[in-house]
Amino acid sequence: MTILLALNWKMNKTPTEARSWAQELGEKYAQVEGVELAVMAPALDLSALSANLPAGVAFGGQDVSEHESGAYTGEVSAAMLKDAGAGYVVVGHSERREYHAETDAQVAAKARQAQKNGLIPIVCVGEKLEVREKSEHVPFTLAQLAGSLEGVGTDVVIAYEPVWAIGTGKTATADDAEELAAAIRNALKQQYGEKAAGIRVLYGGSVKPDNIAEICGKPNVNGALVGGASLKVPDVLGMQDALK
Ligand code: PGA
Repeated sequence: MTILLALNWKMNKTPTEARSWAQELGEKYAQVEGVELAVMAPALDLSALSANLPAGVAFGGQDVSEHESGAYTGEVSAAMLKDAGAGYVVVGHSERREYHAETDAQVAAKARQAQKNGLIPIVCVGEKLEVREKSEHVPFTLAQLAGSLEGVGTDVVIAYEPVWAIGTGKTATADDAEELAAAIRNALKQQYGEKAAGIRVLYGGSVKPDNIAEICGKPNVNGALVGGASLKVPDVLGMQDALK
């Protein structure tokens, strides 16, 4: 399975900065066999990415409306993302769940809406520190996964991101990542049967050039969702190199 390196810029980079970043990547980029790169950017940056990213590098949004179109001021529809050239969209990131009170049901509705419009949703799940400290991280994450995949088809990517490891420099160990990735893969098998084998399960949380190879070397981890280390092109190239 191709490894997916999904770069989550979060609320960083103006369209001008996005253009420079894409051009810098274009100057230095060479495709690494078996690694797919996708830039998950603010919606306003997508046209700059579309015009400037090197061929073969995908891009997408960080959120999408659960509604088709209409009176939803401030929202961005799946059709708009698709028309802008997006291939993916992140849904249910812990920052959206935390600051916008997104529920599993809403996350599932967003993922369905994305798929309906030909986008691949990257569905994020993961526990907070207090859940991990009670050793309830596996059942918690699987319950979140089940709710977030209600009615969602197999053209999906799952990202396991323990909230305590996001932006904190505290990476889960590769074994922690594998424990959940394996549990998620099992749950996917129960939901989708044989087709689950084709679904990529990513790990996210303080991934960087010096830890990505060990994490992505685990049998059930098929890539990474990267925040902080996605902002500078040399870090991105360093992560790609580490996966060679
Ligand atoms: P981080 O963010 O790599 O900065 O920890 C990951 C994410 O939130 O997707």
